[in-house]
Amino acid sequence: MRKRGSATSRGYDSTWRREAAAFLSDPANRLCAVCGRPAKVVMHIHSIRLRPDLRMNKSNWRPGCHSCNAKEAVLGYALPSLASKRK
Ligand SMILES: [Zn+2]
Repeated sequence: MRKRGSATSRGYDSTWRREAAAFLSDPANRLCAVCGRPAKVVMHIHSIRLRPDLRMNKSNWRPGCHSCNAKEAVLGYALPSLASKRK
């Protein structure tokens, strides 16, 4: 895979980091939406490779852990959430 440069050059700027930290500090977003472990990162429901316009849209955000976020990056699509598995 080709190197894509630093996080900042891909658009993960200070606004993103501040908004993401605020999102994850909400008790409702405490746990990874996929596996239920403590959430560390914001994951996008619609991949921002396909929908870059939804990058800062919080309706496209969900809490995730590093492990699930890495899996989604490889897959290129969102993993099913715990909530949908329990349906
Ligand atoms: Zn997870």
